[in-house]
Amino acid sequence: MPALSIPNVPLSSGTAIPQLGVGVYLVEPADTVDVVSTAFDLGYRHIDTAALYRNEAEVGQAIAQSGLDRDDVFVTTKLWNTDQTRAADAFQESLDRLQLDRVDLYLIHWPQPMHGEALGAWRSLIDIAESGRASAIGVSNFEVEHLQQLIDETGVVPAVNQIELHPLHQRRELAEFCAAHNIVIEAWAPLAQGKSDLFERPELIEIAQAHGKSPAQAVLRWHVQQGRVIFPKTLRRERLIENADIFDFELSADEIAVFDSFEAGTNFGPDPRTFDRR
Ligand code: NAD
Repeated sequence: MPALSIPNVPLSSGTAIPQLGVGVYLVEPADTVDVVSTAFDLGYRHIDTAALYRNEAEVGQAIAQSGLDRDDVFVTTKLWNTDQTRAADAFQESLDRLQLDRVDLYLIHWPQPMHGEALGAWRSLIDIAESGRASAIGVSNFEVEHLQQLIDETGVVPAVNQIELHPLHQRRELAEFCAAHNIVIEAWAPLAQGKSDLFERPELIEIAQAHGKSPAQAVLRWHVQQGRVIFPKTLRRERLIENADIFDFELSADEIAVFDSFEAGTNFGPDPRTFDRR
């Protein structure tokens, strides 16, 4: 099947990232080849994985089997916390598992400020980018002070910051900082992990119905209109189709204002300032 027409978002690296992809967090290795292959069949071209997810090898297998040109697929992976002092080796191990000689985006997964290792890891990522083996580099779960440290110490601004962001947790101050520094936001848990009552809210249902869409599609559209990159997770083909069918309608300013009112400071993931998982 031909690629879906998904807009690209330019990155400060000079490359561009498809605004919609598929994330494979908590996708079992045994399911990963199927999910990624189905996504490719449906026209997805952007996969978000991580060393932590233990499915890089299966992502690589799906890419190898797909017959797609390497340049037509966008692959992100991430450096796990225990590897921040050996980033160069950990990166090569990820490449080997993926059966690739470069990734499109390599991220530091968490700042782990209590260990003080992220700056050294960032210097390694800068070297990796200079070697051409990562077309862009960035971070995940970094707060303003963590980003500021990298920028102050190296002068190299992360191309993206992948953070928990959804209508119940909009991260406005961090989002403003990222916008001011040309850091693209990737929203993880874009659907609030399907764990909240968000999809049952009458105001959201009304907006979705007005456009003939599902609440999940309206939420994904809200992200897209704010310029964020998303990769909602699902194992189900019909949801992969649904989640990609969001580029033919436009939320109005009044509808966006309703989303603004959903802010509740509700996060489902850990606090990046204190999260210490080795
Ligand atoms: P998500 O918001 O994408 O929620 C996924 C859940 O939403 C699914 O399990 C399913 O139950 C539901 N869902 C999916 N499509 C739906 C639809 N059309 N209608 C109704 N429900 C639907 O949350 P997530 O999986 O945590 O985040 C997505 C991706 O973000 C992950 O796969 C991973 O790639 C990335 N991520 C990154 C970090 C990080 O620390 N960097 C942390 C968590 C997730």
